[in-house]
Amino acid sequence: MTDKTTKAAEVPAPRFAMDRMLWDHLIAIGTLHILCLFAPFTFSWGALAVAAFLYWVSGCLGVTLGYHRLFTHQSFETSKFIRYSLAIFGTLAYQGGPIKWVGQHRTHHRDSDKNGDPHSPKHGFFWGHMLWCMMDDHLGRDPRALAKDLQKDKFMVLIDRWFWVPQVVLAIALYFIGGFGWVVWGVAVRTVLEYHSTWFVNSASHTWGYKNFKTKDDSRNNWWVALISWGEGWHNNHHAHQRSARHGMRWYEFDVTWYTIQAMEALGLVRKVYVPDVELGERYTGGDVPPSGH
Ligand SMILES: [Zn+2]
Ligand SMILES: [Zn+2]
Repeated sequence: MTDKTTKAAEVPAPRFAMDRMLWDHLIAIGTLHILCLFAPFTFSWGALAVAAFLYWVSGCLGVTLGYHRLFTHQSFETSKFIRYSLAIFGTLAYQGGPIKWVGQHRTHHRDSDKNGDPHSPKHGFFWGHMLWCMMDDHLGRDPRALAKDLQKDKFMVLIDRWFWVPQVVLAIALYFIGGFGWVVWGVAVRTVLEYHSTWFVNSASHTWGYKNFKTKDDSRNNWWVALISWGEGWHNNHHAHQRSARHGMRWYEFDVTWYTIQAMEALGLVRKVYVPDVELGERYTGGDVPPSGH
């Protein structure tokens, strides 16, 4: 116990440092944000429909259902074809390849809201929201180290290395089909909205909301984050039951990704869907709640 406490105290908290800045990340994220300035001048209903469709494909299917619930937490099983398709969809969110994303997210679960957490709002809301992903790990850790299972799969290694290719191919295709407006909406606006909805899971859902479970971290259930992130805002439920394919656990906790998994199960596309037997008791709102040991 003493050893553990000493070790935790020795780990420095992450903070902004110019020498750890990942310039390529900053330029890519910055460029996508700047391109959004063209959105009002390039609007068309076609461009909006393309953006909405791709938001679902890359955000719900790619990041939430694929990267998060399947690759990170193995909430269900599916065929190789579907796994690989989900991995490609996930790259379109431009949040890195599946191995890096999974490794970083597992680090978050291991060190939630402690100094080893790569993106806790405890170290500044803006840090936990977006600054963290433009910096090299403050402890010099390899983000892929916690995703050894995925590293055994050659396709995953390949798509992790070349994660930017599908987005570039998509941008070129959209340009030839619908012109510059389709690129602005289908790539820039859609990816930037997706960035912030994912980042709000890390920042807002560790700051505001209620708890169904007493966890040792600050994770919260936040309804508006759940709405924009396909159910990921029920983040306290998720921290308490990480393998659960279902994040929304009360009847009003709307979880589109869970409904999608159920539909896929009914169609025979996924199997061995894991849902824990959960007894929901009192709901905690705001303030600190005592840890339960989850
Ligand atoms: Zn979290
Ligand atoms: Zn998770």
